Amino acid sequence: MVNLTRNFFIGLSNNKFFNENAKRWGFRLGADKFVAGTNFDTVIDTIKDLNQRGISCTVDNLGEFVSEKEEASEAKNRILVILDKIHSENLDCHLSVKLTQLGLDIEEAFCVNNIREILKRANQYNLFVNIDMEDYSHYVQTLEVLQQVRDNYKNVGTVVQSYLYRTEEDLEDLKDLRLRLVKGAYQESKDVAYQKKEEIDREYIRLAKKRLLGDAFTSIATHDHHIINELKQFINENNISKDKFEFQMLYGFRTEMQYELAEEGYNFCTYIPFGNDWFGYFMRRLAERPQNLNLVMKDAFYTKDNQLKKEPIITGAVAVSLMMMWKRKRKSKNEKVS
Ligand SMILES: Cc1cc2nc3c(=O)[nH]c(=O)nc-3n(C[C@H](O)[C@H](O)[C@H](O)COP(=O)(O)OP(=O)(O)OC[C@H]3O[C@@H](n4cnc5c(N)ncnc54)[C@H](O)[C@@H]3O)c2cc1C
Repeated sequence: MVNLTRNFFIGLSNNKFFNENAKRWGFRLGADKFVAGTNFDTVIDTIKDLNQRGISCTVDNLGEFVSEKEEASEAKNRILVILDKIHSENLDCHLSVKLTQLGLDIEEAFCVNNIREILKRANQYNLFVNIDMEDYSHYVQTLEVLQQVRDNYKNVGTVVQSYLYRTEEDLEDLKDLRLRLVKGAYQESKDVAYQKKEEIDREYIRLAKKRLLGDAFTSIATHDHHIINELKQFINENNISKDKFEFQMLYGFRTEMQYELAEEGYNFCTYIPFGNDWFGYFMRRLAERPQNLNLVMKDAFYTKDNQLKKEPIITGAVAVSLMMMWKRKRKSKNEKVS
């Protein structure tokens, strides 16, 4: 059942129709709980508030699966302006970016030029750039692009996913790089990835400990308090310096815990997504935590002060169709099983 729900939302996250149209709808379905704003200017205050609490940020101008060069160039230009603003506003903030937004699906060399330009600008300001890891169909290419830029730019890192069988082997090659460790957000086949939560969690803890004993900086990106507690204990027992790692969580998730970890003196970084291209990101968050579906239904029909909306037409129609698709899918799966 958990897998069925997860697969359903991940399927939706790749749905071109919804992704394209959602850009025009503006935030719906409660997405504003997890997507901090529509453009960079609207998230500057959020970053400043977090910085005041001793929390650093990484910003992601949402966008992926870009298929036109023009669109990728526009994304790159927007990111260059964001870097200028991070610098001029003196924010404690770095950049996260997905290579498909910069044209990985169009032409690798074109994408490499785009990321180079971004790294060059970030380097001028001494800012770090993290290349997010996408689904497995982009995995090898992402590492290839990284390979082409890492010698010239020391301000670049990427993400490793504990659900992939090959991660431990790849970590050898990436051992000198600053990395973010995550469980993995996409739906991958059992040929390449662990499927069971216990296995993915076990690998996460194992890989995190290995990284913490190494030299390079690691971002421990998870909302899982069991894992965080086990790693805190490991860090204490092994006298691992707090300069060697940080905890990371996504904007809108477990906010109190984010503050607490920062107050306990750990380096903490909040991942701040923003922009109109919110649908895929939001659906992946529903896949991880279907409890958030309550938010979707509530947002469809009620205003912020709990009044029934007068015109819940667009949001309501989308929410209801999502629910119906989900139920239909569940029914057909049950029929197949029974
Ligand atoms: C900063 C950051 C960056 C990421 N970047 C990438 C990336 O580049 N590529 C990629 O593939 N994935 C990325 N991810 C997503 C990641 O792969 C996981 O899909 C996602 O983090 C969910 O896994 P989890 O480790 O948070 O814990 P889960 O397995 O989702 O949760 C474990 C347990 O933690 C508790 N819990 C979790 N969330 C909550 C909550 N909101 N409230 C209360 N309890 C909760 C529950 O007890 C739950 O059972 C990123 C995640 C983060 C935090």
